[in-house]
Amino acid sequence: MITKLRFLGTGGGRFSTIFQSRATGGLYIESGVKIHIDPGPGAILHMKNYGINPTKIDYLLISHCHPDHYTDGEILVEGMTQGGRKRRGMLLASKSVLEGVGDIGPAISKYHKSLINHKHLSPGDFLNLGPVDLEATPSVHSDPTTVGFKIHTPNGTISYVADTSLSDEVVEAHKGARILILPVTRPRNSRIDWHLSTEDAVEFIRKIEPEITFFTHFGLKMVRAEPEIEAYWAQEKSGYRVMAAKDGMRVSMGSRITVK
Ligand SMILES: [Zn+2]
Repeated sequence: MITKLRFLGTGGGRFSTIFQSRATGGLYIESGVKIHIDPGPGAILHMKNYGINPTKIDYLLISHCHPDHYTDGEILVEGMTQGGRKRRGMLLASKSVLEGVGDIGPAISKYHKSLINHKHLSPGDFLNLGPVDLEATPSVHSDPTTVGFKIHTPNGTISYVADTSLSDEVVEAHKGARILILPVTRPRNSRIDWHLSTEDAVEFIRKIEPEITFFTHFGLKMVRAEPEIEAYWAQEKSGYRVMAAKDGMRVSMGSRITVK
């Protein structure tokens, strides 16, 4: 069996999302189960365009309570439960998304929570999702309950790093990844708090040594700097394969990893 990934969108951060400089909508993974991660604005539209059926999603994962990651979440819950008629699927998310934390969230209404089994994840949580295992990882982000995801498939581990500053603890948690997905919001020479820049990504990659890294979650400055140029620089600097994800990009992971 081949594990398949599809980038529904590669945009992130405020203005890139507002102007849709890159699409938003998260990541779709199929590996015996169907997983949707971070359904930001437009997720449902891009699913339609790429022929992904929202009623077939088994697990919806939401890393944190910022709108570029959660806005289509409730629609996905309706899709997964076939309009609320069938209790199926599961929603796994940060505490902020499900319960609210301080003045952040929640992002999913009580009604939508009543439709679906759900659980809030904390770093270190480990769950079996049938053919894959899910591990929640830490993040250093303005939503203090943000979690990243490590998906252990029969073909190897996919690390989905959530929005974060560079931190030893976060890097350590992603060791062993075959595919590393990094939210590189900022290009070189423009690092900001709570996010990764291209320089941070190089540090991250050197410690993980993945087979391939995909940059995604591009802010407006990153889009203008051209993610492909930043990814090429990171590849030269780190010595490991790095690609900038494109909207709609497909990746297959079997004995080899191929990109379409
Ligand atoms: Zn965020």
